[in-house]
Formats: sequence, structure tokens, C-alpha cells
Amino acid sequence: MKELKVLTMKNGTKLIELDSIETKYGRKRGILFNDVVALECTTCKGGFLLGSFHKQKQLKIGVKNACKTCRVEENKKSNSSLMKKASHQNWRAKQAGRVADLTTQDVERLYELATKKVVCCSITGKPLQRPVLGHLKPVEEAGSTLTNLIVISQKVNKLQASKDIFQWLLTEKAQEVVDIETVRETVEKLADLREVTPEELLKEHLSKKQIKEFMKIYN
Ligand SMILES: [Zn+2]
Repeated sequence: MKELKVLTMKNGTKLIELDSIETKYGRKRGILFNDVVALECTTCKGGFLLGSFHKQKQLKIGVKNACKTCRVEENKKSNSSLMKKASHQNWRAKQAGRVADLTTQDVERLYELATKKVVCCSITGKPLQRPVLGHLKPVEEAGSTLTNLIVISQKVNKLQASKDIFQWLLTEKAQEVVDIETVRETVEKLADLREVTPEELLKEHLSKKQIKEFMKIYN
């Protein structure tokens, strides 16, 4: 971390000379007049002035572990993973000759709908390591678009197979894995997203008789 001892600007000018470098909590810090003025970025290992880190009050040192440049890179990476998800679903819909207008922002929005503190399955309520996008109506029927997708677990995705998700929720197999409270919340959120009532949403997927059945289980 040689940049810390003498911080050098990109154009070669020396920015600051430090009195000393110490290591605390496994991280180098540059000291000047007994104050911490520079820190090691835990990601790129470069040494930077405190202003090169975003603030984070919860941490004792008051700034994030990674420098601003590294944070921007991290954000780009997570954005590109959402982009991949969008283009994958659009590809599937195109294969089926259906609407394929899902954007990265749409996927982000779907994730937000399923996020408590972490991303959770919209059906089981369980926190997800690897969330997947499932279709409400089969992709062959309604394509990949904001209002036809939902964040679920791989398990639910597999069990649902190519069934309409609301039809599937009526099956006994589904009722073994669902969390009723979570399903109820999800129905409300999906209805909000479309600006319709939960009943109007269900009408798109179920017959009158099935809606009654659905309400009995999930209300
Ligand atoms: Zn960095």
C-alpha cells in the first residue's frame, strides 16, 4: 500500500505526506498529526484520503470499506446481473413469439417488491441466495414483462413448472411449501403494481369458482 505513505495524484503531484501508517482491524490507515486521514480500500488495497470513501455512520471509522471507485464497479456488476436476467427473460419470450419488453429497471423493481432486508421468495417468504424470475402466466402465453414476472425460489420455480402460478397455488403440492401470509401480501403487491384490486388480478388467472377456492385458502 505504498500510496499511503505519500499520496500521489494521477498526474504525479504529491498530495500529502503521512506521519505514519498503522494497521487496525486488519486495515492500514494513514496518520497525520495523530488523526486518521487516509485509509486502505479493502477491495483494491489502494490507499486513499477519507474523502475517497462513502460515509457509513454504523462503522466505527465512519466510512465504507471499499473506496468510491470500487463501489461504482460493484454497482455496475450487480446492475449487469439484473440486465442479464432481463435479456434472458426477453429471449425466452421472443422464442415464444410473445411480448418481450422487460427492462433492467423492471427487474430491479421486481426485486424491490420481494425484498424485506434480503430478497425473499414471493411465495414461501424464505430468504433467497439465488432468486429466480418466474412467470405468472406461462411465458408461451404472456411473455416476459413487468406484470408477468415474480421473484421466487428455484424450488417454487421448478414445482410451478409451466403452470399459471395462481392455478399452481391451488394445488396440494403448492400448499405444502407456501407461506399463506406471504402469498396474501404478494397478491396485494402484484395488484398494486397493475393498479387493480386483488380480485381483478385473480380474474386474469382463475375462474370464478377457483377465485372462491383461492380466497378460502389465502384469506
Ligand atoms: Zn478501492
